[in-house]
Amino acid sequence: MGVELSQAQFGVENFLDNSDEQVVETMGMNSTQSNKANSRQKKWAIEDSENQYRIQGWGEPYFSINAAGHITVSPKGDRGGSLDLFDLVNALRQRNLGLPLLIRFSDILEHRIERLNASFAKAITRYNYAGGYRGVFPVKCNQQRHLLEDLVRFGKPYQFGLEAGSKPELMIALAMLDTPGALLICNGYKDREYIETAMLAQRLGQTPMIVLEQIEEVQLVIDASRALGIQPFLGVRAKLSSKGIGRWGDSSGDRAKFGLTIPEIIRVVEQLKEANMLESLQLLHYHIGSQISSISVIKDAILEASKIFVELAQLGANMKYLDVGGGLGVDYDGSQTNFHASKNYNLQNYASDIIAEVKEACDERGIPVPTLISESGRAIASHQSVLIFDVLSTSDVPTDPPTPAKEEEHLIIRNLWETFNNINVQNYQEAFYDATQFKEEALSRFKLGYLRITERARAEQLYWACCKKILDIAREQEYVPDDLEDLEKIMASIYYVNMSVFQSAPDSWAIDQLFPIMPLHRLDEEATQRGILADLTCDSDGKIDQFIDLRDVKPVLELHDLKPGEPYYLGLFLGGAYQEIMGNLHNLFGDTNAVHIKLTPKGYQIEHVVKGDTMAEVVSYVQYDAEDLVESMRQRTEQALLEKRITIQEAQRLLQNYEHSLGRYTYLSP
Ligand SMILES: *Cc1c(COP(=O)(O)O)cnc(C)c1O
Repeated sequence: MGVELSQAQFGVENFLDNSDEQVVETMGMNSTQSNKANSRQKKWAIEDSENQYRIQGWGEPYFSINAAGHITVSPKGDRGGSLDLFDLVNALRQRNLGLPLLIRFSDILEHRIERLNASFAKAITRYNYAGGYRGVFPVKCNQQRHLLEDLVRFGKPYQFGLEAGSKPELMIALAMLDTPGALLICNGYKDREYIETAMLAQRLGQTPMIVLEQIEEVQLVIDASRALGIQPFLGVRAKLSSKGIGRWGDSSGDRAKFGLTIPEIIRVVEQLKEANMLESLQLLHYHIGSQISSISVIKDAILEASKIFVELAQLGANMKYLDVGGGLGVDYDGSQTNFHASKNYNLQNYASDIIAEVKEACDERGIPVPTLISESGRAIASHQSVLIFDVLSTSDVPTDPPTPAKEEEHLIIRNLWETFNNINVQNYQEAFYDATQFKEEALSRFKLGYLRITERARAEQLYWACCKKILDIAREQEYVPDDLEDLEKIMASIYYVNMSVFQSAPDSWAIDQLFPIMPLHRLDEEATQRGILADLTCDSDGKIDQFIDLRDVKPVLELHDLKPGEPYYLGLFLGGAYQEIMGNLHNLFGDTNAVHIKLTPKGYQIEHVVKGDTMAEVVSYVQYDAEDLVESMRQRTEQALLEKRITIQEAQRLLQNYEHSLGRYTYLSP
């Protein structure tokens, strides 16, 4: 993995001027190594947990750890006021809100909008840019009504608008956006009705920008404009030759799904000119993909787009807006690198580079600079929600200290015992190889019928004991040899968690996206276990076994032992964009409970509670009627009663449970 460190890209001055995302102090240091050294010398400290989970890297300024070893949330960033997340979860549970629970912090959303606008405002001042910035939120990132209502309200001071990528999203955006002067960017496939509706909305005082993405749309727009007698606001979406990299790299380039090639853009200009509508063409748009991790890609795209912009102006279009689309990244692993789960720039670098490039291109040709638009979704919506879920149980590999092999036991067992007994720092690598060989041999003998099941059990137990001993040594070493890296995976505990990956973190399953995950509490205590997470679905893909790390990913997460009778809560962070709407009903696990929390001078206020799906609701999505189901069960019970296969008490209990369940949450209650 070729990692570019951010300092290499920018002057230090430039990088440090944004308090939002400071350079993390542990940069360049391997966190597990520093933890190792610490744990030997002194008691586990909060800072050790901070390093282990890299919370400063991805969490600042919103998430940190307090002296009690709990995660705290500062929804207003560094402006003060914070909540103990563990206490908050307990308080919400007392209000009958079961886990998994999605907590949305509206203040974080507000803070993100402020930060984005402040970064552009600062860049505009610094470069003496004569135009403004007018951002829009791409509705597809999170369409939830409460969130969108907040977003429109928080965006009012900045005339923040909305972007619709489909007809249904246009319906929402048209009805929700009431900010005078805010832009409504109309993207996606369009039919005549879409175009007419957008044009007519001008009469309501809105500013819908119809972005032409397909060549066929031009004629539709010309016809609709004639029929309605309305001069529309038009834009063109360019397919840039600059390609994004990584997962969404194909969103740009010549084979991209959307957008017009340069020859097509020239055709649009000619067609509009012929129809006497070139005045309407005001905006150039591009979108090179989401989560752009490298600033060089962003610079490359704006360089190309600025040139197209000035050319269009010189061809006679009435160019006023340049829309740079989405792509502004989120630092999921906190490494500040161009790794796909990170980004090697901050908000200020992003805004400054865009402003500087556009200004230069326009000044060169004496063209007035445009109002800049960005469609940042991920960067606005990711931080505001946290998914909280509990651990139901764990499954560990058996590592009880083995009893010595007896003289009369099978040779393989005696060999394994010998191996176990002799493991030390000098030979642990070789011992791993030997133990694996003996275990394989035991297995093949068992299959051939030469080893009894009790002997196989004994061999496996000794093998695990060897692995445990070897792993304990390996963890103490500075460098772990490659062939031992799998050992962590082999020895990982499975933590069964009360959630569905398919419902709540679909991108983790679909595209291996990384989200920071960590315990909400006990962070003043060393997490002695290494585990992977297995969800409630019966799908073997319903698991999380890749976790953020400073370099690349790690196969296991540091977790605590479960304490009997005590809940163990985990949080999945930065999942506020895309996950909710893409989540699906696999195994019929439905929407989770969601609450909206707002900071108040005295603490917090619960603004909204959105109850998750009940079982009756999820079965209705697949066309079952809960009452019909109950009726069918009742009839079967009657039949069983008639045939004396069930007692009346059992029948009553069964029907009560059945009916009760249908009205309940789809997840497990403790
Ligand atoms: C998805 C999308 C966005 C949002 O991208 P982010 O990377 O989440 O900011 C913006 N514009 C268009 C056209 C999109 O398709």
